Amino acid sequence: ESFDSMGLQENLLRGIYAYGFEKPSAIQQRGIVPFIRGLDVIQQAQSGTGKTATFCSGILQQLDYSVVDCQALVLAPTRELAQQIEKVMRALGDYLGVKVHACVGGTIVREDQRILSTGVHVVVGTPGRVFDMLRRQSLRPDRIKIFVLDEADEMLSRGFKDQIYDIFQLLPPKIQVGLFSATMPPEALDITRKFMNKPVRILV
Ligand code: AMP
Repeated sequence: ESFDSMGLQENLLRGIYAYGFEKPSAIQQRGIVPFIRGLDVIQQAQSGTGKTATFCSGILQQLDYSVVDCQALVLAPTRELAQQIEKVMRALGDYLGVKVHACVGGTIVREDQRILSTGVHVVVGTPGRVFDMLRRQSLRPDRIKIFVLDEADEMLSRGFKDQIYDIFQLLPPKIQVGLFSATMPPEALDITRKFMNKPVRILV
């Protein structure tokens, strides 16, 4: 299988190849297609498998670029990871004109608010700052249609469970959920049962 045979938009393919990827990794081969079909997906994979490009491609393929509303939200356990995801999303979506912003702790709240007010397609962030932006209505949830939890097990072990649940409550009910996790502790299974709809499970 190649990236070409997945039904991806030309400008997304250009971004993928320009980034330097030639062939999809195992998780990309199995995970991108169900994701772009809008299905809920649980992908059990370690980091290093290419999971970031899996959900970034899955998101970038599905955005409506004619409007600059936030349509996808990605949560990650650490600032560094969130910023790394932001970079990959921006690079892969370069030819699509995607606008991405990372909302993480330790940065100036007003600056986040300013950037969000200018309009973005995708927000990547840590649970605390993302919840704060939603609570202040600086991030409007009504057009969000895709929600990705990256390293869900790690987020749960860092005590983000309540914030993740709070964020789910603020998002529209019919949302596509992608959950990426190296392991599946009971708290991660609870999330899949409470918030996911007939998820496809992929184990790499
Ligand atoms: P990740 O699991 O998303 O953290 O990715 C691990 C590493 O693999 C990163 O350095 C990626 O840039 C790289 N990578 C991901 N997908 C591919 C691919 N299809 N071809 C080559 N390198 C890749």
